Amino acid sequence: MEKLILFVDDSPTMRSSVTFCLRNAGYRVTEAEDGVDGLDKLQSIKNEDQPLALIITDINMPRMDGITFITKVKETEFKFIPILVLSTESEESMIEQGRAAGASGWLLKPFQPEQLLWAVKKVVWPK
Ligand SMILES: [Mg+2]
Repeated sequence: MEKLILFVDDSPTMRSSVTFCLRNAGYRVTEAEDGVDGLDKLQSIKNEDQPLALIITDINMPRMDGITFITKVKETEFKFIPILVLSTESEESMIEQGRAAGASGWLLKPFQPEQLLWAVKKVVWPK
C-alpha cells in the first residue's frame, strides 16, 4: 500500500501543488488547512486505523500555527511520526523552535519537487 502523508497548509494553491507532487511520486496524501484541522485529520486517520508515514506542515496558519501543531502532535500516539516543516520562515530562532518542538527537518518555500521528495524519502522508512 502507498504510504500516507498528512500535509497541513492554509494555502489551497500550496496544498494542491504539494499534493500533486507527492501523489505523482506514489504517496497517498490527506490535506489539512491548519493545525486545528490537522489534529482532526489525525483523529480520522487513527479511527480508520491507517498507518501514517509522515506529516508535512506549514508554520504560518490561522487558528493554530505549525509550531503549536507539532507540539500537540508530540503529545499524541503520533509522536514518533516524523514531521517536516515546509515554510517561508527562514529565521534561525523560528527554525530552532521547530527543532525544539520535534520537527525532523525544515524546507523553505518555494519548494523544489526533487528537494521535497528527497527529504520525504530520507525520513520515511521503507516497508
Ligand atoms: Mg501559511
